[in-house]
Amino acid sequence: MRIRASIATASILHLRNYRIKVEPTTLYFMLSGKCEGSCLYCTHRKGYLSRIKWPEFSFKEVKSRIGKTRAKRICIQCPYMEGCMDALKKILEEIKNEKPISLSIAAISKEEMKMLKEEGVERIGIGLDCATEEIFNKWKKGVPSWKKYMEAIKNAKEIFGDATCHLIIGLGESDEEAISLMENMKKKGVRIALFAYFWKNKNVVDIHRYRVMQIARYVIEKGTKRKFLFENGRLLEMEIDEIDKKAFMTAGCPSCNRPFYNERVTKIYNYPYLLSEEEFERAVKEARKYAGIYIASE
Ligand code: SF4
Repeated sequence: MRIRASIATASILHLRNYRIKVEPTTLYFMLSGKCEGSCLYCTHRKGYLSRIKWPEFSFKEVKSRIGKTRAKRICIQCPYMEGCMDALKKILEEIKNEKPISLSIAAISKEEMKMLKEEGVERIGIGLDCATEEIFNKWKKGVPSWKKYMEAIKNAKEIFGDATCHLIIGLGESDEEAISLMENMKKKGVRIALFAYFWKNKNVVDIHRYRVMQIARYVIEKGTKRKFLFENGRLLEMEIDEIDKKAFMTAGCPSCNRPFYNERVTKIYNYPYLLSEEEFERAVKEARKYAGIYIASE
């Protein structure tokens, strides 16, 4: 059996000898096999996921090294393909006692989720990726419908007790649409894993806008007081209670830091570590270049 691993994961497992700047706190794997979906923003067919290359290894080799790392979680990326559940079952049987396991997966049925839970999956992240149904229909091809994804998100929360919804900023959504999806997920008790659209080796999303989206996600997830003012879908101002460094860190399942998954090391969008004071001040300044941010504690 073979399995793909992100380059940073392969490095901390000593399967590859790359120098990495930040250690992944989750081990990222991907099932071998071809995704049958053809989402227009995805690079999976070329052996990548976002900007990350995923070399393939013998599963036996990988398995023997998992327990020796400090990573706190395992995340398995699941292409949308026939045989996905069978492949997962075989892998889960071997590693379910190593560390908590997340799956990053498309809309699957309630029965499949129950089976995965029994096989040892701790939680799942659903790749909704798009803020609205219209954007979803434009970008996501050959996968289940928006309605099925929404159902799957609801079921994931019910079955696993916690769930994550992946959202990409930069697919043509307005600020209001993105924030409205985040609020909608908050009502369902679902976390948002935020990504910046990365295409042809560069970030498509303006960093100033992304900083504001990160702050919005953070205050929404925290459930603190917030007020957003929009004009024609664009965010003009936000009033919030407080802000802290965690707002700019990678969001999603606990211990997921996805180092440099959707950015180059030189211009960090999702910080895979706790920011320094200087980085934090810069991030807040970047956000303020996009919208008025009024913080009650200031
Ligand atoms: S948030 Fe991170 S650990 Fe959770 S499913 Fe997404 S990539 Fe995996």
